[in-house]
Amino acid sequence: MIRLAIPSIEENDLQAVRDVLLSGYLVQGSHVAQFEKSIAQLVGSEHAIAVSNATAALHLSLLALGIVPGDRVIVTTYSWIATANVIALCGAEPIFVDINPATFNMDADQLEVALERSMNDLGKRPKAIIPVHTFGQLADMPRIIALAQRYDIPVIEDAACALGATLNNRQAGGWAKTGCFSFHPRKAITTGEGGVITTNDAALARNLRALRNHGADPDASSPDFIMPGFNYRMTEFQAALGLTQMNKLERIILARRRLAERYDQLLADTRLQAPVVMPDSCSVYQSYIVLLPSEVAAVRPELIAAMTQQGIQTNIGTYHMPMTTYFRERYHYKLGDFPVSEDVFARSLALPLHEYLTDAEQIEVVQAVSDWVDAYA
Ligand SMILES: *Cc1c(COP(=O)(O)O)cnc(C)c1O
Repeated sequence: MIRLAIPSIEENDLQAVRDVLLSGYLVQGSHVAQFEKSIAQLVGSEHAIAVSNATAALHLSLLALGIVPGDRVIVTTYSWIATANVIALCGAEPIFVDINPATFNMDADQLEVALERSMNDLGKRPKAIIPVHTFGQLADMPRIIALAQRYDIPVIEDAACALGATLNNRQAGGWAKTGCFSFHPRKAITTGEGGVITTNDAALARNLRALRNHGADPDASSPDFIMPGFNYRMTEFQAALGLTQMNKLERIILARRRLAERYDQLLADTRLQAPVVMPDSCSVYQSYIVLLPSEVAAVRPELIAAMTQQGIQTNIGTYHMPMTTYFRERYHYKLGDFPVSEDVFARSLALPLHEYLTDAEQIEVVQAVSDWVDAYA
């Protein structure tokens, strides 16, 4: 089977985890702090707070920014469902903004429209904006930050897929009030489950540290609790794995870029549309997503099943969040409300991408998908 994703786990990763397990200190030791330091260094942020996953990172970012029930939060339409769920979990209302058809990222023009509408029609300033760096390519952060500043609204970067990605040589996670990273096995480097929040705001960092640890005062010498908090901590053995993984990040990103470039070439004379990366943008290709011809969208499940039978794992891209049952029923969205996201959701296909993928396998994948598409329509 040519697998969609395989984490790059090697002997030194195993050894690092084993050492921590044998030490008997499994939580709240020095590895988490070291891992945080290494992320902060890469991103160029002053603070990094490790948490149990990126969903926790997004949730705590909203809470630390003071989002309360009834608030409105602007978010992109096309992402893993956690990006919208965290808004609902705060009792807030998501205002969805459609995506750009080339990058699959929040459309800055549509964001401007949504901001104007919220201020005029709804008469209520949104309390946060969450753009996503979809599939490892940065959203249009210069424009999003400029718009957010115009209305004085904090931005939370969902950088779950984008550790190491840059735009204008600036790292993902370093642009906004907070950046949220994931270390789930589907991302470039992994800690099994894991997340990190980056920020340059010392007061916010202190709140985030308290919120992830039962509300404990992070600066107190004897335990004291300054707010009700969660247990959203990362374990020591996850952080130890994170540290050995960080040493491989550059190698893994380079491999993914080389593989993506090769897919781009192989796709050139097919009816499959390769992903678009904007100028001055360096994607880390968390997933390599092609667009199928429109007439094939309706039979994508059959295509995915046929590929599995031929030993090739493929998948849909990610989710059109407003049309998932909960959000659709709650806010009465209908087909046509977010046409770009709808189209991309229906036509996207993730191809296998991992460090161990060979040239021959890439040829096999493109040939198989392209042949099936040509045979169908
Ligand atoms: C993976 C992912 C998340 C959630 O990350 P977890 O660590 O699994 O909680 C959130 N947003 C996006 C865009 C993701 O890809």
